[in-house]
Amino acid sequence: MNKKRYVILTFVIIAIILCSNSLYSINNYADPIVAEDDTLDTEVQEKFDLEELYTFDYDYKDGYIRYCTEHAIFYSQSDYLNEDEIREFAKRVDTGIIEIETYLNMKLDSDHYINSRIFVNINDSMNEPEFNNENNDIEHTAIISVDNIKEKKAPYIHELIHLIAWEYSSTWTKEGLAIYLNDMFNGDPTYPNNGYDIDKLSLQFYNNGTLESLKAFDLLGENGFPNYEDVETEKIFYIFSASFVKYIENSIGTNDFIDIYKSSDTKNSLENITGKSIQILKDEWINHLKLEVK
Ligand SMILES: [Zn+2]
Repeated sequence: MNKKRYVILTFVIIAIILCSNSLYSINNYADPIVAEDDTLDTEVQEKFDLEELYTFDYDYKDGYIRYCTEHAIFYSQSDYLNEDEIREFAKRVDTGIIEIETYLNMKLDSDHYINSRIFVNINDSMNEPEFNNENNDIEHTAIISVDNIKEKKAPYIHELIHLIAWEYSSTWTKEGLAIYLNDMFNGDPTYPNNGYDIDKLSLQFYNNGTLESLKAFDLLGENGFPNYEDVETEKIFYIFSASFVKYIENSIGTNDFIDIYKSSDTKNSLENITGKSIQILKDEWINHLKLEVK
């Protein structure tokens, strides 16, 4: 009996030692795992304040709402959009950023942005002087201003394209790309074509042959920032630019187009890559529209 008790006691003691050992090792393991998580969290927190993600901050400033996603910080009057509307709009902006980045093979340069996010100024909320404190150290390109969200006419895709493809030297490539891709990515209808087909409009303006459209056609493809002299010429120039960019990009591919886009001499770069003069390319584009536009 004594021997049996001894065996049981020994077994119990061994069991206790094993249990406490495994408890010890759980604790032992727990520490490094937590530490690893902490390291990861710290890295993420340098970019994002996780606490503020996807929450509505009404204390930021009286009468305003601040809302953050992984890609953007939204700032809006609290009586303009309700929480659902802000959430829905924020989702469209985040989706747009990813779609544009993927299509153009470009990334937002997050070093310039607060918490690595872009700032979305809804209906001029951001123009409040207090709000600008938050923007002291960031570059102008980190901000997009949008309005007409309720009316579903917000130029957010257009503005995001300017933000992502910030390196340009000519207006026709810059505005042309933004207008063309705004429609391709199903952005809201907005200036200058308001949802109308850029190719159809271009052919109409070309065929109309008004003074403004002749001037806009002349300026198309020129380097730098054209002097339109009037708003109608600017509008037609923007629409021509969108259709012409679409034609060029479809002919040579996105990568080559982006090389031209980023080049400091757009005209020269376009002629080098296509082997054609700007005048010939414009003629080919118009002939293409005459064939394709129904
Ligand atoms: Zn623009």
